[in-house]
Amino acid sequence: MPSVTRYLTVDGEILSEKRGAAKSDYLPDPLGSTAALLNSSQTKTDSYTYWPYGEERTSSGSTPTPFRYVGTLGYRKDDSSRTYVRARVLNPGRARWMTMDPLWPRQSAYGYCYADPIGATDMLGLACGYDCNKPCANGAALGASTGTSGSYYDSLPGYTYCCDGRLVSCLNRKWPGDPDADQPPMSDRDFYECVLAHENAHKNDPKAKCPPNGLGSPIYPPGYQFECVGYSAEIACYEKKFANCGKIKNTVEREKCYKKFDSLIEYACGMALRGVKPPCSYGQLPSICLLRR
Ligand SMILES: [Zn+2]
Repeated sequence: MPSVTRYLTVDGEILSEKRGAAKSDYLPDPLGSTAALLNSSQTKTDSYTYWPYGEERTSSGSTPTPFRYVGTLGYRKDDSSRTYVRARVLNPGRARWMTMDPLWPRQSAYGYCYADPIGATDMLGLACGYDCNKPCANGAALGASTGTSGSYYDSLPGYTYCCDGRLVSCLNRKWPGDPDADQPPMSDRDFYECVLAHENAHKNDPKAKCPPNGLGSPIYPPGYQFECVGYSAEIACYEKKFANCGKIKNTVEREKCYKKFDSLIEYACGMALRGVKPPCSYGQLPSICLLRR
């Protein structure tokens, strides 16, 4: 009878498995390779050592786990010459990828991790050292557009994509002090915060699914107005932020507040209606956009 194996993962990292009735904990080395498996009484049942590019140096035990070399980060051993790493397949014996980097010539065609397999991993098969918990750190290496500035409100301010099967958001231009700030700041703090609300709405959208390899743009049901969800959240954020313009005593400052609110709403409603496909339908458009037309 075929048995089912279930894996417990946190942020894409395998912590334990349940193979039929047997539960094992994964003991990773600093790189994320499985050094040993421990049974439910914390006794070592299996152990592994590796050569730098993933060939197995020694192994003991009989648990048939495919998650060995960098296995706790999802590298999967298909057979002794093939290790599946999401976007590509690694050949440990040859110390290289079996297929060309889709980002070639910007990235090395077949080379693995800048010939530094001890210091770094490439859990996507695309970008060595890439960390899905810091989705902007290497966005350009993944082929994501990093946007340009120049318009009153920065163009292409952010995006949401699948990294290792999870939706992650990156604002192309960060505010100083942000943990993932590798970009110059956006032109405007209010704009920045509400774009963040927009991207978070995508990130939390239950209709968004990741492609089978867990990478790239999210997949939505046909005709689903996913940008309407994003811009609605962004517009709600502006409405909340500028709700007190009317209470400002100083006339000049009050007018400034209204003017800024107006231009942000104009921008976001315009994008929701005309800037995206499929456009937001009138029934879904935030009412403040309808009031303005
Ligand atoms: Zn969006």
